[in-house]
Amino acid sequence: MKGKIRLFRKALGLVWDSAPGWATANILISVLQSILPLVLIWLIKLLIDGITGAAQSGSGAAGIVPLAIAVVVVYFLDEICTDSGSYISSNQSVKLESYMYNLLHSKAVRLDLINFEHPGYYDCLSRASSEAPWRPNNILNNIVSMFRGLLSLTLMAGLLLTLHWSVAILLVVVNIPGIWLRLHYADILYHFQREQTPEARKSAYFNWLLTGDRPSREIRLFNLGNYFISLFKESFRKQKEEELRILRKRTLIELISALVKASAILVLLLVVARRTISGELSLGQMTMFLLAFRQGMTYIKVFLSSLAGLYEDGLYIGDTFEFLDLKERVIANPPVTIPDELKSEIRVEGISFTYPGNDYASINKVSFEIKKGEIIALVGPNGAGKSTLIRLLTRLYDPDTGSVKWDGSDIRNMDPEAYRKFFSVVFQDFMLYNLPAGENIRMGNIETADADLKIRKAAKVSGVHELIDNLPRGYNTTIGTLFDDSRELSWGEWQKIALARALFREAPVLILDEPSSSLDADTEYEIFSRFREITEGRTSILITHRFTNVSLADRIIVMEHGSITETGSHRELMRKKGKYWEMYRKQSGRFES
Ligand code: ATP
Repeated sequence: MKGKIRLFRKALGLVWDSAPGWATANILISVLQSILPLVLIWLIKLLIDGITGAAQSGSGAAGIVPLAIAVVVVYFLDEICTDSGSYISSNQSVKLESYMYNLLHSKAVRLDLINFEHPGYYDCLSRASSEAPWRPNNILNNIVSMFRGLLSLTLMAGLLLTLHWSVAILLVVVNIPGIWLRLHYADILYHFQREQTPEARKSAYFNWLLTGDRPSREIRLFNLGNYFISLFKESFRKQKEEELRILRKRTLIELISALVKASAILVLLLVVARRTISGELSLGQMTMFLLAFRQGMTYIKVFLSSLAGLYEDGLYIGDTFEFLDLKERVIANPPVTIPDELKSEIRVEGISFTYPGNDYASINKVSFEIKKGEIIALVGPNGAGKSTLIRLLTRLYDPDTGSVKWDGSDIRNMDPEAYRKFFSVVFQDFMLYNLPAGENIRMGNIETADADLKIRKAAKVSGVHELIDNLPRGYNTTIGTLFDDSRELSWGEWQKIALARALFREAPVLILDEPSSSLDADTEYEIFSRFREITEGRTSILITHRFTNVSLADRIIVMEHGSITETGSHRELMRKKGKYWEMYRKQSGRFES
């Protein structure tokens, strides 16, 4: 219970921070909404008694006109409150939704990359993103309507007490089975849905395979549509069948609880009818009690539903905070050092790294150094650990043991964002941004002002300038397939854009992971024959399986099974006749033969 109250306090804090003005307006209007119906019932009673009195005394209708006006005014105010209440709460919801998305997105981009290796992270993210935008507001609304319900209910029960104490008690007792039911099933449904998160993500994945752009070609070519439709159906059925079974059971019991309430109304009708016939109650009083009981039933329902809703909120809001409270571990550890431009070398000292869930190290006690301005080629068979090593160098992950030193300082003591500013990388799985071509290149350093000339320069070096220039709106043409008036590029053209993006960044360390895998022979030749000129003044790491490009490096590092097995220049390694020599011979032998 203590834990839930703490979560509610945190959630209400979010509601308040997102829109304090709208939250206050929401509370005030709710209080008004709880008082006005009671005033209305009271006025109706006075009006009916006035009418009967006037009918009996023959005094005419003039005396009741002010009462009739008062009824209409209060009714009108009540309507205004309802309409403006829904406007205010819509406004508050929009503000909160945007605020919560901002929190979620800021957290998602800050979180350590290693989180993306855990399926549990995706479960947590998926639960948080489906709950976060609206759940805190729900808590506020439930609290407000609980107090509103309680206030109105107390007033109505007070009114009913004047009829008979048992009627007030009846009002409360008949609603108890309903609330028990709601609480009981809230627990069952929450735990069921939590267990179902991996399955729900699975169906979302099959849905994407069936409707997404990237899978669309293979799905058609291999005729996989029906296969994935059946996988989706099966996964969807698994989730929904059990949920519907739980809901069916709940609905059945709800019917019984509704029956209990109906019997209570019957009892009240009989009591009020008997006492009116016997003359104990006036017509006005009779109407007042009937309306009060009906209104009381509504309020108690509101009150109990809000209570049950709060219980549900307590279960679900925890998921949002579970995500928002995830800790970042790749941070600047004390004593913090401010990274400066590389002066001498990057030194990797005995680093090892195992991906979560793997039982083998992807990087195993690796040591080497890169001198400022050097061009290093990293080669080795698939799965040797080259890309993982780059992620460790750029501090996307921290190694399990060993360290990376930037001019002698451990990079663990540096702010990762400040440190990464010194790197520019073309990843193997580089990003395609469905944005204007120029913007795609500017992404390399979004803070650069007056970037146009530099963007064109980078595009020229990567061999994509002419292509962009010939697009209908040149550098302003949106590329990709997602939006109107956009132009799709070939994979190699996208790769050139990614290369231009990396060059535009002008970072002192340039890392290219398979940068020429889709480049045509001319572009590749053009880039690599001028590689030294292009990378002048920068330290570069080139990962490639193309040995024609490897030989331009000052030093070659050969990796196998997560370890470095050879290092040296092309000549040295060829003389050594080890793994490098073997791989080189196989590749060049194919061409010669
Ligand atoms: P390639 O030449 O095919 O690009 P690579 O040398 O870059 O290969 P890495 O991608 O670094 O190799 O992978 C090294 C090892 O780590 C492989 O055994 C791979 O299966 C494993 N690995 C890579 N990424 C992950 C991941 N996200 N989760 C778990 N294991 C991974």
